[in-house]
Amino acid sequence: MNEPLTAIPALSCADDYDPNSMPVAKAREVIARFLTPVTATERVHVRGALGRVLAEDVISPLNVPAHDNSAMDGYAVRHADLKPEGEVTLKVAGSAFAGAPYSGSVSAGLCVRIMTGGVVPQGADTIVMQEHVKADGDKVTVGPGQKKGQNLRRAGEDLEAGQVALKRGLGLRPADIGLISSLGIGEVTVYRKLRVAFFSTGDELVSIGAQPREGQIFDSNRYTIHGMLTRLGCEVLDMGVVRDVPALLERAFQDAAKAADVVITSGGVSVGEADFVKELLDRLGEVVFWKIAMKPGRPLAYGKIGAAHFFGLPGNPVSVMVTFYQFVRDALLKLSGRDPVPALPAFQVPCTSSLKKAPGRTEFQRGILSQDAAGNWSVRVTGEQGSGILRSMSEANCFIILAEAQGNVAPGAMVEVQVLEGVI
Ligand code: AMP
Ligand code: MG
Repeated sequence: MNEPLTAIPALSCADDYDPNSMPVAKAREVIARFLTPVTATERVHVRGALGRVLAEDVISPLNVPAHDNSAMDGYAVRHADLKPEGEVTLKVAGSAFAGAPYSGSVSAGLCVRIMTGGVVPQGADTIVMQEHVKADGDKVTVGPGQKKGQNLRRAGEDLEAGQVALKRGLGLRPADIGLISSLGIGEVTVYRKLRVAFFSTGDELVSIGAQPREGQIFDSNRYTIHGMLTRLGCEVLDMGVVRDVPALLERAFQDAAKAADVVITSGGVSVGEADFVKELLDRLGEVVFWKIAMKPGRPLAYGKIGAAHFFGLPGNPVSVMVTFYQFVRDALLKLSGRDPVPALPAFQVPCTSSLKKAPGRTEFQRGILSQDAAGNWSVRVTGEQGSGILRSMSEANCFIILAEAQGNVAPGAMVEVQVLEGVI
């Protein structure tokens, strides 16, 4: 059961919750409490299932492999015919190719020529590699030292009939699609896509195609958000730019919440603008406004508008992306039915730049991970780190995550990086 969001303020007495200096981990923890995944499902063809989330376990209807088969090109023999310390000559009775098995049985003194994937014929229990025999017409001589059962792939060794091949909650990747096909399964049950509505707020914004007047800028957040949502497999509903006019915003929030499972906005949650949006959202739903102890991405609003989850991201283009990756991504995956939600890969590498960092908040600097001539990986920072410099995000292939307590970083020190490649 989810607790009502109104329980959130109670946290302030119970522990270290402080909406004006909310630690990153704490904000994640609070958000995670209110996420109820979609339950509706649909059947899709396996080819169309890439990126979708399995709503049921896929059970193998067969043994994989279906039969004992050879892992090598060579000869299928009876181990009892071989001598532990000497040579033995056997007669080649026939052949077993992948897809064309040998129909007879291997009796004493016989062997069968077998290719990789060929079904091991009855009577045989061991495969001798072709490099380990001397072949002469229909005779082969096998040397000593062959182990019983060697070079065999056993029926059901990868998967037994009735065993779970893939688990509910998995986001399907190409290997999974291949695995499902290898079981002869043509359709799978997946969760319906999560519907996400989003809009930008700001009187200064114009959309592509319009001519910006002095002081106006092109809206970029809607495009990055569209891209990030598409990568996560969401159904997207782009609601355009909404001006900072209470009646228009109210209508937009209501329409979005009716149409989607999740509403995402950018802009309008920073000091000054927040009061106005706050008053509006207090009426329409239950929303908390946080100042997160992080850089960039300090202001963040989270809550519910009707049944829809709401994320009010900051306006600055880099802050939008950082808060999306640190808070929204995991939440959307959880709501989409992913279980478990895979963490973005992170690890330590030496940093070749010197980094300026004040203790007291978590920083997500934009970094470029690269390999030197000797093959060693290191990271350097992308130039200026202003939260409005979207180019820094475009050049980056990772975040350099500097923990709350961390101060300046000297060149050569180890830092944690979170890889974005393939994610954004
Ligand atoms: P705000 O949080 O609305 O005060 O916006 C903070 C900064 O981000 C301002 O400089 C805005 O012009 C800028 N900004 C807000 N929304 C967008 C957007 N959709 N695209 C590009 N920049 C934006
Ligand atoms: Mg604004």
